[in-house]
Amino acid sequence: MTGAILAGMGVGLSPVRAEVFRVKPSQPLPAAHKHSGNAESEKQTLRSAVSAVAHYLEELSEKAGETSAEIFEALKMLLEDEDLFETAAAQIDEGWSAATSFILAVDEFGELLAGDAAFEERVADLRDLAKRVAAHIHGIHLGLDLPATGRYVLVGEDFSPADTAQFTNAVVGVVTIKGGPTSHTAIICRSKSIPAVVSCPAAEDLVDGQIVLVDPVGDRVVVDGDESMATKTISFVAKSIEPIIPVRANIGSLSDAVSAATTAANGVGLFRTELLYLSAHSMPSISEQAKSYTEILKAAPEGPIVVRTIDAGSDKPVPFLKMEHEENPALGVRGYRLIQDHRQFILDQLASLEVARKESGREVWVMAPMIATAQEALEFAALARAAGEFKVGVMVETPSIVMALADLANQLDFISVGTNDLSQYLFAADRMNPSLGALLNPWQPALIRALAKIATDSAAGNLSSGVCGESASDPAFAVVLAGLGFKSVSASMSQVGAVRTALSSVSLDQAKAVAAEALDATTAEEAKSRVLAALANL
Ligand code: PEP
Ligand code: MG
Repeated sequence: MTGAILAGMGVGLSPVRAEVFRVKPSQPLPAAHKHSGNAESEKQTLRSAVSAVAHYLEELSEKAGETSAEIFEALKMLLEDEDLFETAAAQIDEGWSAATSFILAVDEFGELLAGDAAFEERVADLRDLAKRVAAHIHGIHLGLDLPATGRYVLVGEDFSPADTAQFTNAVVGVVTIKGGPTSHTAIICRSKSIPAVVSCPAAEDLVDGQIVLVDPVGDRVVVDGDESMATKTISFVAKSIEPIIPVRANIGSLSDAVSAATTAANGVGLFRTELLYLSAHSMPSISEQAKSYTEILKAAPEGPIVVRTIDAGSDKPVPFLKMEHEENPALGVRGYRLIQDHRQFILDQLASLEVARKESGREVWVMAPMIATAQEALEFAALARAAGEFKVGVMVETPSIVMALADLANQLDFISVGTNDLSQYLFAADRMNPSLGALLNPWQPALIRALAKIATDSAAGNLSSGVCGESASDPAFAVVLAGLGFKSVSASMSQVGAVRTALSSVSLDQAKAVAAEALDATTAEEAKSRVLAALANL
């Protein structure tokens, strides 16, 4: 397969050429089996295996950098969750062995959380931990056995936090068959500046010893390719102190707010409130909510703070909000649709945010997720205005609201585009399905044209428009967004600096010319390469 081009999704900006190192599958775990009769001693075995793996996570967390340490702490909490243990204990009472029971319990949790990118990735991590618990019980070694010296491109299905913690200095590039832009592999490679291509199904055929070029800017791996074939990166050089439009940060917790304040972000463009409640079993009171929102608002970077009301649904179950099981949760009762059965919670959130706004003295904007009609948007705006002194807006994530923006003219303060969901619904492509990565690529011309319409209709209707989906974390794409007419972008924290630099390197007219190139393209590849060429020629 010399010269073969394997398409995937790139992470990072520089290419690397090195030898393939395939991660070997470890010794298989014993198949599901029953225990020999003593349920109590089986539960003891499980408790001590869970604490051994929790201890192992603590060690990894101490060794890891900041990005991973947080993930390890979150995983440790999930692993030691008492409900999870009780679910496993019930399986032990049914006769299943400690190891099998724990895997079954994690499967049950996984089904509950199925359907949402951020959560499914964490469930995949938890499944990996369940294997570690089982391996501990059976005395099986689960290391990756990576070389300590040399230069290798690591190739495997996907890498869990425990795997990435074992990366040695010899790992200079990474290719995964599965995993998407929010996979742990992508997060870690981005934070460690290791060039990677994820969601690359054809990498299945790569073998040890082959030389590959990992070309993240080109979203591809080239077998036997040399570095001259790599897609050119743009190195943006800031020409002004301030970017042409404000760059805000996406956050989901107090520690995110604290970290975001260390970046040059102008406020927060998306505070995902549901992330605070994923393991809450009882509904937080208004005063509890107000306390945590106040802390977060106080810690957040200077500038406005855009808070999204809860975006839970049967795909992201928040334990205290009871939800029906749905066959197709992405199309079900999620986001603002929770108003049907959980109106009070949304009202409480708004009331708590008003308390926090006053306590912190911050400028708070509130928006609702998954709005499908102008009527829903106006209903939410009325609720939010009655609750406090907020700027009020909605997320644009469904094709139907894209077509209805003109009906909102002069009636909202702002809109914010969630391109992750907008791509999913525009292309009818499950955002978690790694085989559909190409349709979810933000450079798809149909998405860019939808974005152009959103920016134009928002400007005509006097609605300030921003983009807070992952696409805004790509510096070149952020220039396109500014050129299309968006008034702000919100990026993941690690990308705030790069996006700001890109948006400080061009004038608004230049950004418009760059966006025009993207609008003329008929394929995602053409859109991206025309934009990169236009940026290189500025
Ligand atoms: C989006 O859909 O782009 C978005 C920002 O929301 P989330 O990723 O939380 O669904
Ligand atoms: Mg969304």
